[in-house]
Amino acid sequence: MGTQLLATCPCGVSHEVSIGGTRASRGVFDFPHACSGCRKVVSVNILSEPLTCPSCRGSALSSYQASAARVWMYKFMSSLPYSFQRKFWRGVSESPPFSHYCSKNQRTYSMFPLRQRCVNCSKNTLDFSLLSLFD
Ligand SMILES: [Zn+2]
Ligand SMILES: [Zn+2]
Repeated sequence: MGTQLLATCPCGVSHEVSIGGTRASRGVFDFPHACSGCRKVVSVNILSEPLTCPSCRGSALSSYQASAARVWMYKFMSSLPYSFQRKFWRGVSESPPFSHYCSKNQRTYSMFPLRQRCVNCSKNTLDFSLLSLFD
């Protein structure tokens, strides 16, 4: 199972990336990373060490994975009454994270879709939108 995403930024960045892998591709679990070598958002197979950028073969990668604490905070705040959320949490407009469970590593990898740091212009204006689901 996987999710195909489109990463876009007002600076012109537009890259397709994915989370997860196909049923046919055992040993592959893709996750979006920023590559500062070629300044692209790329899908990196996190099950293959060392991590390598599929575009430039470099290793200057940083993951867009959300911290476990932030995912927990999101779930906690979403369970509260809306009026309470509005009062105490400015991040209430945050969209639910895209998540996939990696059976090989036995953990869930999540990322938030909006306001990520752009690898090209370095502003927090990179958004991920859903393109399709695959399995
Ligand atoms: Zn690269
Ligand atoms: Zn940008």
